[in-house]
Amino acid sequence: MAKKQVYSFGGGKADGNAKMKNLLGGKGANLAEMASLGVPVPPGFTITTEVCTYFYQNRKKYPPGIKQQVEQALRKVEKIMGKKLGDPKNPLLVSVRSGARQSMPGMMETVLNVGLTSKTIPGLVKQSGDERFVYDAYRRLITMYSDVVMEKAAGIEPKEGRGIRLQLEELMNELKKKKGYKGDTDMTTEDLKQLCSRYKAKVKQVLGKAFPDEHTKQLWGGIDAVFSSWNGRRAVSYRRIEGIPDEWGTAVNVQTMVFGNIGENSATGVAFTRNPGNGENKFYGEYLMNAQGEDVVAGTRTPAPVNEDSKSEHNKTEVSLEKAMPKIYKQLFQIQKKLEKHYRDMQDLEFTVENSRLFMLQTRTGKRNGPAALKMAMDMVREKLITKKDAVMRVSPAQLDELLHPVIDPAEEKKKTPIAKGLPAGPGGAGGQIVFTAQDAVDWNNEGKKVVLVREETNPEDVEGMRAAQAILTARGGMTSHAALVARGWGKCCIVGCGALDVDYSKKQFSVDGMTLKEGDFITLNGTKGLVYEGQLPMMDAAQENKLLNSFLKICDGIRKLGVRTNADTPEDAKKAKQLGAEGIGLFRTEHMFYGKGSDEALFVLRKMIVSKDSNERQKAINELFKYVKKDIKGTLAAMDNMPVVIRLLDPPLHEFVPREKARLEQLAKELNITLDELAKRADALHESNPMMGHRGVRLGVTYPEISRMQIKAVFEAAAELIKKGKKPYPEIMIPVVCDMKELALQLDIAKEIYKQVLGKYKLKKIRHKLGTMIEIPRAALVANRIAEQAEFFSYGTNDLTQMGFGFSRDDIGGFLPDYLNKGILPQDPFQSIDQDGIGELIQIGIERGRKTRKNLEIGICGEHGGDPASVEFCHRVGMDYVSCSPFRVPIARLAAAQAALK
Ligand code: PEP
Ligand code: MG
Repeated sequence: MAKKQVYSFGGGKADGNAKMKNLLGGKGANLAEMASLGVPVPPGFTITTEVCTYFYQNRKKYPPGIKQQVEQALRKVEKIMGKKLGDPKNPLLVSVRSGARQSMPGMMETVLNVGLTSKTIPGLVKQSGDERFVYDAYRRLITMYSDVVMEKAAGIEPKEGRGIRLQLEELMNELKKKKGYKGDTDMTTEDLKQLCSRYKAKVKQVLGKAFPDEHTKQLWGGIDAVFSSWNGRRAVSYRRIEGIPDEWGTAVNVQTMVFGNIGENSATGVAFTRNPGNGENKFYGEYLMNAQGEDVVAGTRTPAPVNEDSKSEHNKTEVSLEKAMPKIYKQLFQIQKKLEKHYRDMQDLEFTVENSRLFMLQTRTGKRNGPAALKMAMDMVREKLITKKDAVMRVSPAQLDELLHPVIDPAEEKKKTPIAKGLPAGPGGAGGQIVFTAQDAVDWNNEGKKVVLVREETNPEDVEGMRAAQAILTARGGMTSHAALVARGWGKCCIVGCGALDVDYSKKQFSVDGMTLKEGDFITLNGTKGLVYEGQLPMMDAAQENKLLNSFLKICDGIRKLGVRTNADTPEDAKKAKQLGAEGIGLFRTEHMFYGKGSDEALFVLRKMIVSKDSNERQKAINELFKYVKKDIKGTLAAMDNMPVVIRLLDPPLHEFVPREKARLEQLAKELNITLDELAKRADALHESNPMMGHRGVRLGVTYPEISRMQIKAVFEAAAELIKKGKKPYPEIMIPVVCDMKELALQLDIAKEIYKQVLGKYKLKKIRHKLGTMIEIPRAALVANRIAEQAEFFSYGTNDLTQMGFGFSRDDIGGFLPDYLNKGILPQDPFQSIDQDGIGELIQIGIERGRKTRKNLEIGICGEHGGDPASVEFCHRVGMDYVSCSPFRVPIARLAAAQAALK
């Protein structure tokens, strides 16, 4: 091992630096870095992790020469501080703390106030002029030391509840009770003196040894105990979970104690180099005069602002640090500037002023919210503090998401307890009055009321009501259930699978956890977290920085390799997505044209087609349907002019389209000239036990090629007419639910034949297009080499690929997913983020085999995973050409793709 085992820091110098984390641990390395920057840190020294390793390899013995090295380092500290450990007149107190390479919060031990003995107490009393403060510090030392050093490190395992710490606390509680005190602060100096004597007697009685009244003994006891705590039960199990190797060891930091609670010239506080709430480049912080660090966090006293910029409603009458201690403030201000420049990021600082002397106790990268993250990153690029690439990595996709939706005011949300939790299906916050039917949602909305639609689950008939509602809440369904899919597509706040909800449609109420809420009552949803609150909570619009957001996303576009398209079914959605940066449509679900506003006529014709009994009747309905389909496709191709638009042929779960309402059934029977009974029979015949694996997608086209023919003709004619108008449509026709090359070939043959016919009809030479397929059935991924003989592009339908790969119904997983997550079977909902081990493997196999057959095969993803950052990174890694997601997630995908390219 190296000869040097102890590294000093303080007084503007340090033996180590921030890069030496392996040897000095994270804390030691950063303290060294701050010290060499000339930042006033309480001086101290670090005993290396190598010593820890030696300690364990040599039956808890230290390497030779270490005592002298510690001695020397201690002398340096004493020189800087002008105090001495154990000096009766001017005693130095130190802390002894752990510090591993990687932070292990609370897993190892700490001893504070080392150096307080019967010899040094009078000196400290004189020095501080505060006897009570000294005895309070002594009481804490005895408690910590006896617990950490004399009991834990000595390997004593007391019976439950009989540990020395608890026994000492019992003594204190007895005293407080006897005197009728409420808090620790009620105890007088005399009380504390008495308590310290009792503590020492108790330690002797319980542990059979006296509390050491000698400073060197205390110091080495502390060092021993911290090294020993590396192999304490908590630390060992934490290492197992986090995968931290045992041989890393911990370093020990011995550092001067500084006190912010010894009079009016002392203070303690926390600060940020920029405002973490809005990102403004203004120094921001709070402090308390005559206080300890924990007082600032505890909330028992109102902290004062450090300067004018930090004033708020709550603290505007308090005196700022800038006014109270102008010199100290100036010094602090310069230090924060220096630290931010050095670390090139916003820093979260802790400081203490002891008798008009400033000390920095900590600096670390500060946490921030979405708007602040964006503003800081862009400002720092302008200030040339960071590069554009750095800026891209500084904003997380979750922070960007915060910018795109109104959210519940976080300060207000903190005060409330949710009444239920479900799956976070549509982000942002929203609230309103509860309604239980789609029709009520529409009616109430027309009356100017804001409503939340609460359903067991939703189906296509509810779409208008879903549109009218501020938010949607369902008791059943998973992340790809109807409600989730539709809401996400609109960027609407939505919670699904909220199993605790007991919905009673007949009484127009739901109950949850013993509480009943009725129609008209107010609720508020946090769709980002899946939390439901009773009542109205105030909202906040986070998307004020649009200009900034756009320039940030432009930077992302310059870096990413993946294309970003959108899943959109209407020209409005397509336009919205284009504004948000979509470069095409990755999935146009044609059946969605039959939902929602203005879809009644088309839906009626579709229903006729579905329940038609023979090909004659069917062909008639198909001919009628043609104009609706063509119009819809044309609108979207026009909106996305010159960009690829993947149009998927009908993939309707047929049963969803059979009407349920009596009036509609009667209308349909009348139009078909059949009785209601006959209609019921035909509808029954469509019933499938397992419609998700039923007669859908390409299977429909295999049985009824005329349905495919009509749609393909609609696509090519729509494109031809746009070309005639000087536009540049680019359709990509996609066949869903394919499992074999031959079923695809049948459909594509139809497409090729119709293409020729349309060219002839419009006298065109060419319509730019592609013919391809979805890969959403596991078998299709395995036989991708054959499928690629036919397909010019693949689009991964990871909703169905996950459903069929796992055998989990995408609509029912909500019922048992919580058990799978709680028991650690699944790390996350596989319908939200791609299961990279299993489903990911299928995707990779499909890509590899597909590209073996066709080198320039275009490959994308159009399942809901296309907007999930971890899945986007996966898509980048496996070499896809693009991802496609709902319009509101396009910016997130742009960021995630850029980050993937930089990782
Ligand atoms: C899919 O299965 O991933 C897909 C996009 O299709 P749908 O969700 O319409 O089944
Ligand atoms: Mg699918």
